[in-house]
Amino acid sequence: MAYCRFSNSDIYLYENFNNEIICCMCSLVTSDDNIEESEHNNGAFDAVDKIMFTKEEALAHVREHIENGDYVPSHVISTLMQEINEENS
Ligand SMILES: [Zn+2]
Repeated sequence: MAYCRFSNSDIYLYENFNNEIICCMCSLVTSDDNIEESEHNNGAFDAVDKIMFTKEEALAHVREHIENGDYVPSHVISTLMQEINEENS
């Protein structure tokens, strides 16, 4: 299930069949290594997926994107918070 896609958000966040939450081609995962590598690749960034194992981690990650100026629809936050509440109840 996708929380949001690039069509309506700056991030693409979805849950896979292992209950891992994937931030697809995450813009926050660009280490110096990736930048170095991209120079061999005509400057094109290699896409890196960020994998998270809990909803709490995913929520913190979404907030990090928002702090960095990415647009993420507010329902993504409320859906994650609701799922965290359900898991803890
Ligand atoms: Zn991300």
